[in-house]
Amino acid sequence: MRRAYKDLRIEYLRTCISGSSISVSLKDAFRLISSVFHLSGVELEFIGERPSVFGQGDITLFENSSASPVSAPLKFINDYAKGRAVVVYFYPAVNPFTEDEKDELELYSYLTALVISQKSGGSGTDMWTQQLSGIPNAAGYKAKVAQFMKQHDITGYSAFYLNLRGFGNINRKFGSEVGDVIMRRYAETINEYASKDGLAGHLGGDNFVALINKDRRDDFIRFIKNVDLSFVAGEDTPELHISAVCGIWDISGTFEHVGDVIRRPSIAYNEAKNILHSDTAVASDTLISRTEQQRSILRHYDDALRDREFRVFYQPKVDSRTKKLVGAEALVRWFRDGNMISPGIFIPALEERSSILPLDYYVLKQTCEDIKKWIGAGITPVPVSVNFSRKDLADKKLAENINSVIREAGIDKSLIEIEVTETVNIAEQNDLAAFTGKLSRFGIMTAIDDFGSGYSSLNTLRGFQVHTLKIDRSFVNSDDFSWKDEIILKNIVKIANELGIEVVSEGVEREDQLALMNSVGCYVIQGYYYDRPLPHDDFEKRLRDPRY
Ligand code: C2E
Ligand code: CA
Ligand code: CA
Repeated sequence: MRRAYKDLRIEYLRTCISGSSISVSLKDAFRLISSVFHLSGVELEFIGERPSVFGQGDITLFENSSASPVSAPLKFINDYAKGRAVVVYFYPAVNPFTEDEKDELELYSYLTALVISQKSGGSGTDMWTQQLSGIPNAAGYKAKVAQFMKQHDITGYSAFYLNLRGFGNINRKFGSEVGDVIMRRYAETINEYASKDGLAGHLGGDNFVALINKDRRDDFIRFIKNVDLSFVAGEDTPELHISAVCGIWDISGTFEHVGDVIRRPSIAYNEAKNILHSDTAVASDTLISRTEQQRSILRHYDDALRDREFRVFYQPKVDSRTKKLVGAEALVRWFRDGNMISPGIFIPALEERSSILPLDYYVLKQTCEDIKKWIGAGITPVPVSVNFSRKDLADKKLAENINSVIREAGIDKSLIEIEVTETVNIAEQNDLAAFTGKLSRFGIMTAIDDFGSGYSSLNTLRGFQVHTLKIDRSFVNSDDFSWKDEIILKNIVKIANELGIEVVSEGVEREDQLALMNSVGCYVIQGYYYDRPLPHDDFEKRLRDPRY
């Protein structure tokens, strides 16, 4: 449904802008589009050569004064056509555009630019063509795909994203001029192959895209593994074979946005290159939805922080000897549109982009505020540990800032503990040692999280100023827990205790696990056996009645 509708809009825009008076009919076209995208305005700005059909100044195609104020405009400039480019600004009426809307709007802006450029005597092709290779660029490719979809059943095709292996070496070996010739020849070869029954595009650099009939998909995979270009480099270079890493999306019925023909195989390419370390990867539905979920997380993150969609839950720590609440861990939750998103989903996405720091500060501040309120209400608080990601250590003022947050909240420093995980990376280890050392000098306790989950070593106990070791839940939950594990655990607890380090066991769910941890000398327990992470009010009840 949606696809047909989109084509209709493109068709309408095309008709409007091929009319006699461009500026008037463009206005009509964008008015139509505006209702679907909730635009508050569209403007054209000319870069370089200005088409004679337009007067002076920038052109406001329409402006809806009743709409809310304009936020960031979208701006699309074709890098290869600065001399005769038009920038189309789309102003959203209320909400920022989604990635899919941006894709579609981008297409409209190129379509507009093309027609204007043709009307003013240009060939228009430079807006759509990769300058070096002469085959379609990203915009041209997308426009061709949109056209292609009208004549073909797109689900009979596979979309490819290719990146050449070792092209830097070719440039170094033969010089960049020969490198350009080789690149051009490669583009022609791919284009020749693809355009028999599909399309190809050159995104720039050594990145290519192609739309290949599913009948020839496997043959194409073989083909790009070894493209022979020996003859272009000159007589003294007998062998020149270029291989590519590729991502494939076998197009299925759920195709809605033209930009997907590049984006989805590029997700698979990323998987091949960075995760699987292989030549090819296919974009499965799970891979696409996981990646799109991650992107959506990152897109909404700033707003969510501002709108206080993140809430802090508290998971009790209980001393199993006295059966009393002795502490808690602050664990963040994201409430969006009535659903709770677990940190297992958004924390890794934020860490990957190194954007977790503001969230960790937010949780620390919220925790300090909650503790302060409990004290104000006459409730005796317990120390709460707050997680800081290892990525946060890139901020050299991290310890100082944590110290100020606690000081400004006006609560006793002994009520906050900072949890970090350890690392094998030597540079990170040094950062971690400096960080825990500083916190310790400020009088703030630190805990090493997930101890025993992978890279832990006894060096951690020697090198870092830590107050607490948290035994990872994989240790406790392990199916093949052996007598050796028991000896190791017992001695870790013993060493820690002798060094004055407290040991907390995470993930205790059952009676037998509790007995095991007690038998190795670990009594402070954080796990479902006693409590799950609790919302603020439920935890407050625990504080009021701390006996289990
Ligand atoms: P973590 O720091 O190891 O936190 C403990 C996790 O184990 C929590 O998952 C908790 O709900 C879970 N857990 C506790 N007891 C049990 C048990 O008996 N059985 C099982 N199966 N699980 C148990 P949660 O809350 O989903 O958090 C997952 C991870 O997300 C945390 O692991 C931590 O690495 C990260 N995280 C959570 N909040 C924050 C935060 O504010 N900042 C940062 N940087 N990371 C956070
Ligand atoms: Ca933790
Ligand atoms: Ca942990």
